[in-house]
Amino acid sequence: MTVRCQLCGKLSPERSIHCDCGYDFRTGEITAAIEGAECALEVAQRQIGWGIAALVAIPGALLIGGFLLYPFHALAAFVVSVLAPCLLAVAGAVSLVGGIGGRMTASRRLRQAKARKKLPAARVVQ
Ligand SMILES: [Zn+2]
Repeated sequence: MTVRCQLCGKLSPERSIHCDCGYDFRTGEITAAIEGAECALEVAQRQIGWGIAALVAIPGALLIGGFLLYPFHALAAFVVSVLAPCLLAVAGAVSLVGGIGGRMTASRRLRQAKARKKLPAARVVQ
């Protein structure tokens, strides 16, 4: 048997105390869920920031560095200006996509949790 979270809709084992999102099954308390969503939102924002930096800013700087290095050491210049930016760009893209997905999930949870907190009457009815 499972219980469905009234906040995020996720199924948890019947004897669960908390949902992964922070919702308390016994008391209906959602403060932890709001804090968890806010924290997840911050993490996602950092992931997006890092993703953009790794995709654009850092490879741009490395490319310039590679050009400056080329007259002295061609292989090092290749690694710095081509290989490293490519790897960074892939990591950045993964981080950016993950961050955007995480941000969407976290902001939806936060919106749901806050909307629920504003309506104490809805909890009395249950
Ligand atoms: Zn939940």
